[in-house]
Amino acid sequence: MKEYSEPRMHTAEHLLNRTMVLLFGCGRAFSSHIERKRSKCDYKFTRELTAGETAELEKRVNEAVKADLPVREAFVSMEEAAGKFDLGRLPEGAGDRLRCILIGDYDACLCIGPHVNSTGEIGVFRIVSSSFENGVLRVRFKLD
Ligand SMILES: [Zn+2]
Repeated sequence: MKEYSEPRMHTAEHLLNRTMVLLFGCGRAFSSHIERKRSKCDYKFTRELTAGETAELEKRVNEAVKADLPVREAFVSMEEAAGKFDLGRLPEGAGDRLRCILIGDYDACLCIGPHVNSTGEIGVFRIVSSSFENGVLRVRFKLD
């Protein structure tokens, strides 16, 4: 697992992932590229998003930002995490004390990266574009 140096972008990624799961029942991003100016997340998907879906996705993420949800960490054992979280992207030798990031009651996932203290710090979330190819939906976004 790579290191993240952009807490605002990276926390937005958590919100985007949860919103994708809620709206489309897909999995969280299986790959992501987080940069200060523009980021992208890749999802296993079956088609392109419509303009309406893209607008809804952006709107939902911004609602979670505006709600200024607290971001906190908790530690769980491997046993507690199994069945509850996707353990597929855990680093090797993660041990039995896994770091879980909770964003209000909106999202919870295992993560080692740096995050903002509350979602209000993220700013305005904008989807730049999305594209679909070979079973992969790529969503590109930035923060204003
Ligand atoms: Zn994270």
